Amino acid sequence: MLRAFLAEHDAPCPICGYNLRGVMLDICPECECPIELGVSSSSSSLGAWLLALLSFAMPLSFDLLIGTMMTIGVIMSAGENPEGVFLMVSLVALTMVSVGMLWVLVARKRDWLRMARRKQWKLAWGFFVGVFVVHLLVGVGTFLIAR
Ligand SMILES: [Zn+2]
Repeated sequence: MLRAFLAEHDAPCPICGYNLRGVMLDICPECECPIELGVSSSSSSLGAWLLALLSFAMPLSFDLLIGTMMTIGVIMSAGENPEGVFLMVSLVALTMVSVGMLWVLVARKRDWLRMARRKQWKLAWGFFVGVFVVHLLVGVGTFLIAR
């Protein structure tokens, strides 16, 4: 099938760009990398999905670490500073949301890839900006309660 395809079509080598038309081998004659015939889809690109995943994975370790420290602090001080309680509740909630969203993104990866690419990127950037803004609001909220 590879030979039949290359007999009639121009196709650049994916590694060196050499035109493989008419090549009768299963390696590129220019760079000797193995070549094969395949079916691909522009929807299978994982870029937007990875951005969505990173939006929740990046702050997760921070939220988990600081959230745990705040929980210990709140227990030790018997919940006397309201800003500590606010920060603890916020970070524990953010940790749970992040874990939940990571689980949904991994479990429903196929559904994600079926969406139009434009929609994938819109959603991924929406997650990224949304997570940032929510963290900013938690910071501002903690500062305002502490004053
Ligand atoms: Zn090549």
